[in-house]
Amino acid sequence: MNKTTIIGAGIGGLTLGVALKQQGFKVKIFESAKKIKVVGAGIILGCNAMQVFRNLGLAKKVAEKGNLIERMSITDQKLKNLSSISLEYFVDKYKIANYAIHRADLHKILLGEFDEGEVIFGKKLIDIDIVERKLNFEDGTDESFQLLVGADGVQSIVRKSIFGAQEIRKAGQICWRGVVEHPMPEEHINEFRESWGKGARIGHGRINNQLIYWFGLINSVQAPEMHEDDDLESLFNAFDPFLNEMIAKTDKSNLHIGEMTDLKLLKYWYKDRICLIGDAAHAMTPNMGQGAGQAIEDAFALANQLSDAKGDYLVAFPEYQKYRKKKVDKIVKTSWSIGNMAQMENKFLIGVRNIFMKMIPTFVSRNALKETFKI
Ligand SMILES: Cc1cc2nc3c(=O)[nH]c(=O)nc-3n(C[C@H](O)[C@H](O)[C@H](O)COP(=O)(O)OP(=O)(O)OC[C@H]3O[C@@H](n4cnc5c(N)ncnc54)[C@H](O)[C@@H]3O)c2cc1C
Repeated sequence: MNKTTIIGAGIGGLTLGVALKQQGFKVKIFESAKKIKVVGAGIILGCNAMQVFRNLGLAKKVAEKGNLIERMSITDQKLKNLSSISLEYFVDKYKIANYAIHRADLHKILLGEFDEGEVIFGKKLIDIDIVERKLNFEDGTDESFQLLVGADGVQSIVRKSIFGAQEIRKAGQICWRGVVEHPMPEEHINEFRESWGKGARIGHGRINNQLIYWFGLINSVQAPEMHEDDDLESLFNAFDPFLNEMIAKTDKSNLHIGEMTDLKLLKYWYKDRICLIGDAAHAMTPNMGQGAGQAIEDAFALANQLSDAKGDYLVAFPEYQKYRKKKVDKIVKTSWSIGNMAQMENKFLIGVRNIFMKMIPTFVSRNALKETFKI
């Protein structure tokens, strides 16, 4: 079997590595970071991601380290429900549940599937000699490749090397993420709630037996660095005291701040022997909690196509794109629209939005999720 080289040991690159190894491929992953430095944050793994992990034999480990999510709710800023959906229907349909987990735990689980020398840290790709099939790294070394997959995130060097610079759209929103030990009322332990206010929102849910993961967003066109000294308690003081206490208790030295962006839709996710997955191919705003889920689905689909085509990339890469792109493009667009709706500032429109949210019948929310969770 061919050797596949992957750039980036994020969730997408590692899942692809695991899936390819299980199909008998040799893999080598190059990661720029000296060691995995995962932000102090959680992640929701929808039952689409969990179906892939079940197929890779990892679902049990994720379930053991994470927290079961049985319900997703949108509330107003005072935690009054606007819309809430039980995920039981999908558990019945796909025979697997949704989980939230600490990002560090997920990375540990994925890294545990590799042998010595398969994931190489401290190797930052700086450019690719496509004709000679050579990767040049920042440390002056180079490596040849047969098949190359760019799993190197939204600022992908692999993507830039094959397609040139692409537009990264800024949503005009700044997001803080943190984890904290904070008592969660029993009835909300298996629920992930997002609370929409005026030009701001807070999401929160348990990610294991101790920790709550939360994120808070405000509208701002300033760079994240300009917000480093912001007083979060006053920024979010219109929200329910439970949410404010949770933020106040969080160790601020472990907070992660970033701006919300996505990538203008690409026409192709591959060129010759080089293919893209995850955020490198289709970074999306996180409003549907699906960026990693889609990277995980990409990884599984690409490994299956390469295996079916016995490593023939001329067959596998177009088939992979055909299988995945329509679904992903829709999620990118829907995520962007949800972000705009969630961050409204006009009081009248917020009132209309909240009434509308309360009127959405369960079957409508369920149908929207049905497509997302189908792999
Ligand atoms: C606030 C927020 C909340 C989110 N919540 C969720 C959620 O609940 N559920 C969900 O499914 N998704 C969520 N996402 C999205 C999710 O985090 C991303 O979509 C996902 O991490 C993408 O994975 P990836 O492997 O494609 O890219 P990345 O995670 O960006 O990984 C890329 C890797 O490549 C490495 N790299 C980059 N450049 C180079 C180079 N030149 N050479 C070598 N290595 C390189 C990086 O160091 C990194 O390790 C959220 C995102 C945000 C911003």
